[in-house]
Amino acid sequence: MRILVSNDDGIFSPGLMALAEVAAQFGEVLIFAPDFEQSAVGHAITIQRPLKYHPVKLLKGFEAYRVNGTPADCVAMGLFHWGGADLVVSGINLGSNMGSDIWHSGTVAAAKQGVLFGTRGLAFSQNIFGNEPTYDRQKPFIAEVLRMVLRSPQEMPSLINVNLPEDPIGIRWTHQSVRQYNGKVVESQDPMGRRHYWFSAIPLTEPDEDSDRWAVDHGYVSLTPLRLSLTDDEWLSRLKNTQQP
Ligand code: MN
Repeated sequence: MRILVSNDDGIFSPGLMALAEVAAQFGEVLIFAPDFEQSAVGHAITIQRPLKYHPVKLLKGFEAYRVNGTPADCVAMGLFHWGGADLVVSGINLGSNMGSDIWHSGTVAAAKQGVLFGTRGLAFSQNIFGNEPTYDRQKPFIAEVLRMVLRSPQEMPSLINVNLPEDPIGIRWTHQSVRQYNGKVVESQDPMGRRHYWFSAIPLTEPDEDSDRWAVDHGYVSLTPLRLSLTDDEWLSRLKNTQQP
């Protein structure tokens, strides 16, 4: 079992190391991660300049490379370097990726890039409060998720978005909470008096039951199966039946 590990927080993230440690219980691990933070770049790829990757010495002796590119670039480089893999895992992101975050997430994009190349992809994320996390309480649940997926891969979705609560009590299958998205823009000034802006997204509504946010709020590890097709199948069949041009 060959497991490629990536993230969007960068090669020195504590979340990356924690995920690699758990993955190593299941097979051979190779790390390809961005050389600096690439959070919220989504599924961007680099096409205007060449990519490079260099070996990095990490703790625990993992074979690791830093890439001057996006999370999706890292997975492409890693699969090229290794000649494929059985599984791509991404994270553990320093911050949850639920609801509309999934559109922006580089963490999810890395897992998704693995699936686009025909492997299986799992994205892991967790909200962090205060000190640097140890992930002691999350590691057994991450191992359980990997066990579940690898035990009967044919009965498992190929792309799963995993969000971990601070103190997990169990695991739940969930749906993405597609909520009202306020896209708040906050205007301020830099020290030279020039205007600048912060754009952030804040959920406006309470999460619906069995959604990703709901599960994490209730202490469950949230597992959301994702698909690559964005086609709205409901609309498509309705339009084909009623308004075929
Ligand atoms: Mn991140």
